Amino acid sequence: MQPFDYIIPKDMEEASALLAAGNGSVRALQGGTDLIIRIRGGFVRPERVIDLKGLPGMREIRTSPDGWLMIGAACSMNQVGLHPTVCERYDVLAAGANSVASYQLRNRATVGGNLCNASPAADTAPALLCLDAVVEVYGPSGARRIPVNEFFTGPGRTAMQRGEFLTSIHLPPPAGPSHGVYNKLGRTKIGDISMVSVAVNCRQAVEGPVWRIAIGAAGPTPLRAPEAEASLAQDTSPEGVARAAELTAAAARPIDDIRGSAAYRRAMVRVLSRRGIESVLAAFQAAPPASPAGGLA
Ligand SMILES: Cc1cc2nc3c(=O)[nH]c(=O)nc-3n(C[C@H](O)[C@H](O)[C@H](O)COP(=O)(O)OP(=O)(O)OC[C@H]3O[C@@H](n4cnc5c(N)ncnc54)[C@H](O)[C@@H]3O)c2cc1C
Repeated sequence: MQPFDYIIPKDMEEASALLAAGNGSVRALQGGTDLIIRIRGGFVRPERVIDLKGLPGMREIRTSPDGWLMIGAACSMNQVGLHPTVCERYDVLAAGANSVASYQLRNRATVGGNLCNASPAADTAPALLCLDAVVEVYGPSGARRIPVNEFFTGPGRTAMQRGEFLTSIHLPPPAGPSHGVYNKLGRTKIGDISMVSVAVNCRQAVEGPVWRIAIGAAGPTPLRAPEAEASLAQDTSPEGVARAAELTAAAARPIDDIRGSAAYRRAMVRVLSRRGIESVLAAFQAAPPASPAGGLA
């Protein structure tokens, strides 16, 4: 492996200045489960690696006074996937985090690294799209927030500018009962990168059910399926579920690669989305919302 300088910045300002100084020769590091492998393989050759894990708040999960949940960018998958608040209020994210590789890898891999790597197959991305998450980045102009649906700009690319790095992920308080599921298909039953995945979430807001469906590994970025979401808000009959699954498959933009063909991926998006919607409906039937207002159509 090509040698590099390993630097622990003393604060956010120094981290940003160090990242801004390099022109592709400086890389941020968290768990290293993507970066170190890429360095070892010679795909990236940084001269400096900036370890962000120790910066304030990066490994914390806490609820803000306004009810939003803040997840530090360097929280491990296990920290997120096993956190009581995440499991209770944002079950779709717990499912995404817990689907990553193995328990050992989840101790090291971070949710922020997963997003910043910007793989279309990143397993926490569909869940965060479903939850309308907002990410916070820090850079030369200070902190700024970006809705997660604007964060991914292409394979391996994000909306972060030079000198910026991800500091935290923010989840709005669920406005009513909420259920979500994450269905992932890999080449092996566990421990593989997604060939295709679908997250489905529904929250019972006062004004009615709010559905979210997001697709992984079937487009240049993780994708939402807004037409399917709108259709489900009107109709969750068996025919409505089948229509929403069709609309989700139509929203996918898969390619052929070593993990699967585009046609197979699109077919599996249809299957995984139908199963996901059915699971969410079954969860609401098992634990119906306390108030009849805004019941499922
Ligand atoms: C065996 C194996 C199995 C895997 N299985 C899965 C899987 O099932 N699902 C899945 O989604 N992924 C999987 N991965 C990929 C990887 O584990 C995850 O993407 C992980 O979440 C990356 O987090 P990390 O902290 O290790 O990132 P790192 O490797 O530290 O960083 C990843 C990238 O993000 C950048 N970066 C890191 N932190 C920041 C920051 N705060 N701000 C800006 N840029 C930053 C780095 O410079 C690097 O480019 C697997 C990897 C391995 C080795």
